[in-house]
Amino acid sequence: MIRCDRCSGRAAIFQRYSGLHLCPRHFEEDVHRKVKEVLRTYRIFGRPCRIAVAVSGGKDSSSLLSILHALFSSREDVELVAVSIDEGIAGYRPRTLAAAASVAKGLGVEHVVRSLEGEFGVTTDLLASSGQPQGPCSFCGVLRKGLLNRTARELSADAVATGHNLDDEAQTVMLNYLKGDVDRLYRLRPRRALPGMVPRIKPLRRVPEKEMGVYAIAHAIPFETLACPYLSRAMRQEVKELLNDLEAKHPGTKYSIVRGFEKILARDPPGSYEVVACTRCGEPSSDGVCATCRLLERLRPEQSL
Ligand code: SF4
Repeated sequence: MIRCDRCSGRAAIFQRYSGLHLCPRHFEEDVHRKVKEVLRTYRIFGRPCRIAVAVSGGKDSSSLLSILHALFSSREDVELVAVSIDEGIAGYRPRTLAAAASVAKGLGVEHVVRSLEGEFGVTTDLLASSGQPQGPCSFCGVLRKGLLNRTARELSADAVATGHNLDDEAQTVMLNYLKGDVDRLYRLRPRRALPGMVPRIKPLRRVPEKEMGVYAIAHAIPFETLACPYLSRAMRQEVKELLNDLEAKHPGTKYSIVRGFEKILARDPPGSYEVVACTRCGEPSSDGVCATCRLLERLRPEQSL
């Protein structure tokens, strides 16, 4: 029997990057410790706050809601509300939404669902089949992000928590390096509060994806394993496979990518840019027309939106 390095109980998981074998109790402690460390860096707790947790129904966001509930349910100064965005992807989103509803209901957390169709009159399926040169993720991501921010603001949330894990963060950094997209890289910097924009926080950013899967299963958290049908068309998937190969050969690579990038950012002051109200819809924008309106207007000539 392999023993836990913290208590000599039976080990349930081995972290190659740390060299530790952990039993279920110390694995949970380790995940919660990493989440708390990240949360401390955001400096939003310690005063009454309302956190909108973006729950897609996958293992990461469902576990995130469950972890935040475990950490804060005994505190009266922190309120959680689950938010799901329905992008309109047949055969996929209805099942993940059911999982999201199930985890929120099980925890007794309010669950708010908004749809791209209800807000913008479009669905990702419709846009994906319209022959646009970009992959579906480029417009799906823009519309979802905008709607998530608007919903969180309408719910008077102080922050939007998303389920991005260590793998997601390492992929984002690497993807933007590979594309030479320095602007996007720098947008990962912590920023001062901007009018109309609810700050986004990523409490799971130091927890590897695999461990989030183990956590969800070990805690019997309801989640859906179905992948979005458009996922394979994204370059992110190729980067994911590349990083998984590197991590297998060199444990700790993903963590090094994220930490290394954080060190680069720490040499710069917090990012800032001016925000003005979008002249079309009133949402925040950097130059007078927000990304959502820009996208919808570009699509409109070819769509009957
Ligand atoms: Fe949207 Fe792409 Fe995510 Fe699918 S994988 S939900 S198309 S952003």
